[in-house]
Amino acid sequence: MTVSVDLEQLAQRAGRELESAPGDEIVRWAVQTFGTRFAVASAMQDAVLVHLVSQVAPGIDVLFLDTGYHFAETLGTRDAVAATYDVNLITLTPRQTVAEQDAAYGPTLHDRDPDRCCGLRNVAPLDRALQRYDAWATGLRRVEAPTRAGTPVVSYDARRGKVKIAPIAAWSDQDVEDYIASHGILINPLLTAGYRSIGCAPCTRAVGAGEDPRAGRWAGSVKTECGIHR
Ligand code: SF4
Repeated sequence: MTVSVDLEQLAQRAGRELESAPGDEIVRWAVQTFGTRFAVASAMQDAVLVHLVSQVAPGIDVLFLDTGYHFAETLGTRDAVAATYDVNLITLTPRQTVAEQDAAYGPTLHDRDPDRCCGLRNVAPLDRALQRYDAWATGLRRVEAPTRAGTPVVSYDARRGKVKIAPIAAWSDQDVEDYIASHGILINPLLTAGYRSIGCAPCTRAVGAGEDPRAGRWAGSVKTECGIHR
């Protein structure tokens, strides 16, 4: 039996057994199972997941994808998280700077071919980083988008051969707000300026009242996800 088959079976069983478990219990299972071969990915929209995990596993690796296109507020949130929580913040970067990518592919690739841009600046750096781990956690939640409605709390990330953990998959928006308020969690200041889902600056706009929170991502395009969750 190969390691990947073991991980797949482990993930499927944990997904069933932990479906109704609280987020911290899911994280505890991940830490006990994978130790230092478990990392957390954060887009720095808020530090809910970072805080939740750091309470269980102080010093844990937190991966942040710096695409080179982030808002200053997002980079500031990353720096504040690194200074505030007991985590090992690791910034991942693409192989090419924005200038090098512009030279290779032409400027504003994000407008002409956002899938390729995300592939180069989001997907590939995360794929490379996750080679060092057996499992990774994400802050995906089911209520965020129809494409995320079926997110398991633990699943097998077959493309990478890793266990993927979504400790707050079942949380509502109110659950997140309550957690932020009760623990004084750091948030990206753009959340209070109408940005309800925050990605790269060229591909993110604020949304109006009553608009889908993710309507501001790749607005005017059929693209809805950066590709790291395929
Ligand atoms: S979100 Fe936009 S700018 Fe960022 S990597 Fe994807 S296409 Fe490029």
